[in-house]
Amino acid sequence: MATIINGKELAQEIRTNLKKDVEELRNNGIIPKLAVIMVGSDKASEVYVRNKSKACNEIGIEFEEFLEDSSITQKELLDLIDNLNEREDVHGILLQSPIPDHLNIREAFNRISAKKDVDGFNPINVGKLVIGEDAFISCTPYGIMKMLEAYNIPVEGKRAVVIGRSNIVGKPVSQCLLNKNATVTICHSKTENIKEIVKEADIIVAAVGKPKFVTEDMVKKGAVVIDVGINRNEDGKLVGDVDFEHVEPKASYITPVPGGVGPMTVAMLMNNVVKATKQ
Ligand code: NAP
Repeated sequence: MATIINGKELAQEIRTNLKKDVEELRNNGIIPKLAVIMVGSDKASEVYVRNKSKACNEIGIEFEEFLEDSSITQKELLDLIDNLNEREDVHGILLQSPIPDHLNIREAFNRISAKKDVDGFNPINVGKLVIGEDAFISCTPYGIMKMLEAYNIPVEGKRAVVIGRSNIVGKPVSQCLLNKNATVTICHSKTENIKEIVKEADIIVAAVGKPKFVTEDMVKKGAVVIDVGINRNEDGKLVGDVDFEHVEPKASYITPVPGGVGPMTVAMLMNNVVKATKQ
């Protein structure tokens, strides 16, 4: 039987501590503010943005939303980012993805000032993470590392296998694990013999986006299993990338979906906004 890593509880703890930091900032006349840009309408994004707004309200961070029409041009989007970069009352800027196909999201992320890049997507922050300098770390990987730390799960010297190589999860979490001296392997859709590779892992991070991708026969007894996936199954229920029911008895620690990595992502965003404000 595995220990279930309670991301919801841990995220609440982090938020409570951040609330105290924000109170102190406010007492000194500084009000942290997060600006969120959303382009067009996307049901999942609306839920994510609502959750971020709620978390800001709870902690005392001001939240300003920019709901842009899907017809916005690249220049208009970049101008909006430039304006937010210059505004002294805005400490963090977040561009909610996805955005419509006619826009270049990479150029937009790159335009967000590294100092206000609370999502950690700007190449300056990505580069700093790679060379081990203090940076804004993208929120999901940062949340995963906080969970490992909170549960005293050793990382140094361990064999970690990350499934997925996206810029927002797979690559940065691999880098974070490497920075903590794990031996890291990254798997992706072209990886051969993935089952054998994952089976060697002391720590598995699944960020694939496919329900029940990680099955019991891929998991070594006693492995730590971090499930990043957020998928809907046939019944419309929220499920991760791991076949939780069958993997849990083999794992030493495992994150549930929901209530695992998801809440930590929002908590670390709040953490990054407070950090940006202090800086
Ligand atoms: P993504 O950009 O779609 O990346 C998926 C990765 O999985 C890619 O690197 C892809 O490989 C790899 N992959 C796909 N099929 C595979 C296969 N059969 N074998 C091995 N690798 C395979 O997704 P993402 O943005 O990283 O997100 C991953 C999941 O995490 C999604 O379910 C997403 O909703 C969830 N998510 C959750 C949070 C949270 O807060 N909990 C945050 C972000 C994302 P290639 O590179 O070769 O295509």
